[in-house]
Amino acid sequence: AMARFPFVKPLETFDFAYQPSIDRKQVQTLATCHFIEHGDNVLVLGPPGVGKTHLAVALGLKAIEAGYRVLFTTAASLIAALTKAHAEGRLDEKLKIYTTPRLLIIDEIGYLPIERQGANLFFQLISRRYERGPMILTSNQSFGAWGEVFGDRVIATAILDRLLHHAVTLNIRGNSYRLKEKLKAGLVR
Ligand code: ADP
Ligand code: MG
Repeated sequence: AMARFPFVKPLETFDFAYQPSIDRKQVQTLATCHFIEHGDNVLVLGPPGVGKTHLAVALGLKAIEAGYRVLFTTAASLIAALTKAHAEGRLDEKLKIYTTPRLLIIDEIGYLPIERQGANLFFQLISRRYERGPMILTSNQSFGAWGEVFGDRVIATAILDRLLHHAVTLNIRGNSYRLKEKLKAGLVR
């Protein structure tokens, strides 16, 4: 199965000691994949470098081990693909690509601003998966800022309403792991 992960790092390589704001037990419960059976979403929030993508990939790998079909995408590439398909009259076909996998991972919501049509297409996908297909989503923006991310408070609220109905949210507050070595070396503080 091609999940299209940006990198392959299992949960066992995640250093929980470095990120005490993460509830290790909660992540280990998610790793049992019961959330997939329940159709729950997992939302991972936090600033750059705190391990959002790593955790999303690690949980995706657990899901594959458990026999689920998993697809990984970024919000930007998902929206670009839906926008292109829409322009070509193939939206339904393309939406199926993202609704068929049992677990869909959408990484990096909030890094790039989303145009109105992109926000509408994203909403259509979320509506189709709602109460059927579990998702893992990551964002560097708090939910309160999603109105700006999607350029429209009404659409952002509708998206969040569906996503959060059955969801677990991991709020990571901490230092970027990318800075770890530099911090150690005293190069930055
Ligand atoms: P984010 O998606 O939050 O920006 P990443 O998950 O891409 O951050 O993490 C940045 C890099 O640091 C990746 O190589 C990742 O594997 C690593 N990393 C982040 N947090 C941890 C951690 N707690 N333990 C081990 N590696 C980590
Ligand atoms: Mg990331």
